[in-house]
Amino acid sequence: MPRDGKLLMDYRETDEQRMIRETVRKFVENEMKPVVMEYDHKPDPGDCYPWELLKAAARMGLTTMSIPTEYGGGGVTDLVSRIIACEELGYGDNGFAGTIRHCIGLTAWMDTLCTEEQKKEFFPQIVADDTFLIAEAMTEPNSGTDNTLMSGVPGAAMQTHAERRGDEYIINGAKHFISNAGYAKLILLHCRTDRKLPLNECRSVFIVPRDTPGLRIGKFHNKLGRRLINSAELFFDDARVPARYLVREEGEASKYLKQVAFQAFFIPATMVGTLRAAHDEVVAYARLRVQGGKPIIRHQLVAAEISHMKVRIEAIRSLLYRQAWCWENQYEYDPSLTILLRPMLNELCGHMAYSLQEIFGAPGVDREFIAEKLSRDLLTMVHGPSTYAGLIRGAPDYQLETGAHTSEV
Ligand SMILES: Cc1cc2nc3c(=O)[nH]c(=O)nc-3n(C[C@H](O)[C@H](O)[C@H](O)COP(=O)(O)OP(=O)(O)OC[C@H]3O[C@@H](n4cnc5c(N)ncnc54)[C@H](O)[C@@H]3O)c2cc1C
Repeated sequence: MPRDGKLLMDYRETDEQRMIRETVRKFVENEMKPVVMEYDHKPDPGDCYPWELLKAAARMGLTTMSIPTEYGGGGVTDLVSRIIACEELGYGDNGFAGTIRHCIGLTAWMDTLCTEEQKKEFFPQIVADDTFLIAEAMTEPNSGTDNTLMSGVPGAAMQTHAERRGDEYIINGAKHFISNAGYAKLILLHCRTDRKLPLNECRSVFIVPRDTPGLRIGKFHNKLGRRLINSAELFFDDARVPARYLVREEGEASKYLKQVAFQAFFIPATMVGTLRAAHDEVVAYARLRVQGGKPIIRHQLVAAEISHMKVRIEAIRSLLYRQAWCWENQYEYDPSLTILLRPMLNELCGHMAYSLQEIFGAPGVDREFIAEKLSRDLLTMVHGPSTYAGLIRGAPDYQLETGAHTSEV
């Protein structure tokens, strides 16, 4: 709110933001919580996807909230509102939150970067279909962290390659661990359009529909946790994509992806939600479990551990929302602090999994208790822009030295 020409930070949520938080919270309590354990426990990853939850979330407008109203979406452009939705979904289940987070974040990505023709072709399809999932494919069997940290080295990092032939691009390569990939009807594919240049000089992104000739879905990864989001391999064998599905200019992705740096907020938001859920479960259990003649929460070491977790979660949550506010208002925004949210959260997830196990005692390893599922989910978040890579990317002069962009998830 401007006063004396200055922006003042306001911690109150707007009516719309409060409505989103309350609506998603109700959805989590009434629809997600009763079923997530059941899906998580299915041994075959092909059975873990909660289609009915996806349809319910789509009917509520969650999956299409970032699509402009002229295309039939919710038209929510405010970053904080979207973070609120992701945080609350993360409270219910981190895997399912991830699947919806992709819909929210990647449609905002498309709205920012795609042409009107591309939006006209794809947004109506997404709005009309309550099982429309989107994936973003970067990671390959031989390039994970390299896709970021080695992107300035000639020929290094991802090898999936697209070559223009007439009105098409011919794509060859393989991706793995791609969220939503097994069921996605549209894939935002990152690849190189030159074999020798550094990736940041030849990165291109294509919109690849699922029925593209030459695209094959490989195995579903059978993950430790976050089992309600599908993760799969993708193979491109002379896959043929119309040239009109290239996003912006060939080889220019490292430049234009800076415009979608807001993507870096959504995973941290879901992680904060899951950490809050874990903290609440620990408190509830520690109040009930009696040892030494009193609830274990009255034992000082247990109480201290719970307080320690609480303040660390709340500190990161505050930083998340402050960064979002600074981004939204273009006010003293420091991108490295957004990058550093992830390594901080990775460490906290590891510590929280340990606390769950410590405080629940033996039931913490029993699959009937939520602590067991939460511990696996928390450990499965310690990946991606890993703690080490995140700390390197968040270092004071890293962006200046490498010209790296900040949108990678
Ligand atoms: C549940 C889940 C969902 C995922 N979803 C997606 C998705 O939707 N799309 C997608 O593209 N990918 C996705 N991924 C993949 C993810 O982004 C990668 O795991 C990530 O990029 C890290 O790559 P890696 O696993 O190959 O690890 P590696 O790159 O092999 O790293 C292994 C270790 O070495 C360290 N390391 C590597 N290089 C350096 C260096 N130069 N300096 C210091 N330390 C280094 C890393 O920090 C890490 O600790 C997902 C993974 C999982 C588990």
